[in-house]
Amino acid sequence: MADNKERTLVLLKPDAVQRGLVGTIIGRLEGRGLLIAAMKLIHMDKAMASRHYEAHVERPFFPGLVDFITSGPLVAMVLQGPNVVEMVRNTMGATNPLQSSPGTIRGDLATDIGRNLVHGSDSLEAAQREIALFFEESEIVDYSRSVDPWVIEQ
Ligand code: UDP
Ligand code: MG
Repeated sequence: MADNKERTLVLLKPDAVQRGLVGTIIGRLEGRGLLIAAMKLIHMDKAMASRHYEAHVERPFFPGLVDFITSGPLVAMVLQGPNVVEMVRNTMGATNPLQSSPGTIRGDLATDIGRNLVHGSDSLEAAQREIALFFEESEIVDYSRSVDPWVIEQ
């Protein structure tokens, strides 16, 4: 059985905040039954953005990505649930909205790869590193919901 306490980092990027899509996007993720373990609004500086996207530092899109992700506040969240990394990535859709399936966040709400609304960690290892960049351990809340048996077979 999958570990119900797997955690991932989700960012609702500055375009999501500016376009008033925070509630819609959180609703889609909540609707899948994922548990919100932590959440805050934060305006990243370039140093933090560079650490978050360190895997992409050599890529041609890196400077534009850092400019964009630091251009305004974003919502950072820790989501929890079984197979949460894959669940979030599938709900977000492919990186390029041109290839994102309809029904996904990017496939329904985004057009441009450089304005694709959401980030989700791509592995549990990446999630651990990224969560530690955004949240103190004390900001991550461990709780259960009475609805959990209706969402996850116990
Ligand atoms: N990105 C971009 N141009 C590209 C590839 C990526 O602007 O050609 C941006 C895009 O915002 C993407 C982020 O860089 O979400 C990180 O890229 P990654 O391949 O990790 O995609 P993700 O994990 O976000 O789907
Ligand atoms: Mg990625």
